Amino acid sequence: MVNNYLQLRFSALACNQAFARDAVAAFCVCRNPSLSVLSDIKTAVSEAVTNCTVHAYGGEPGLVTVECRIEDGALHITVSDEGRGIDDVEKAVTPFFTTLPDEERSGMGFTIMQTFMDEFKVRSVRGEGTVVYMTKQLDPEVENV
Ligand code: ATP
Ligand code: MG
Repeated sequence: MVNNYLQLRFSALACNQAFARDAVAAFCVCRNPSLSVLSDIKTAVSEAVTNCTVHAYGGEPGLVTVECRIEDGALHITVSDEGRGIDDVEKAVTPFFTTLPDEERSGMGFTIMQTFMDEFKVRSVRGEGTVVYMTKQLDPEVENV
């Protein structure tokens, strides 16, 4: 099956969260993923994009880039920002850790991404931005080929 590529670049606004989630899902649909796989991808994308809006730019103007590759039956996705970055990534990915406890944040976004996707990595540089990399198998039968 041929590989496929998508790049989206959009304003870090809360109203674009649904757009990004649905655009990535629409991109994957041609590979006939199960509803459960699609739902996991949409949830993970929502969490990653929300983090860009809320944490990376803190409500200030900024841009989010979502890149998707479908290769060998798997979705490879990065969600990037050029925002404030994360001081301690290991701490940030710990369940229930949040730097915004007063704003009804539960500190579970990264844990949800990690749980719902097959692979999950965060790379961040203070003052330069953050990249979240995730993969999800779309065609389970590929494993048997
Ligand atoms: P929730 O996702 O449950 O609403 P949360 O966003 O605080 O809460 P996580 O998504 O797990 O929880 O993120 C943990 C912490 O990592 C955040 O509180 C924030 O300090 C930091 N963080 C996450 N994403 C970014 C980002 N893109 N830029 C800067 N900091 C981030
Ligand atoms: Mg979050």
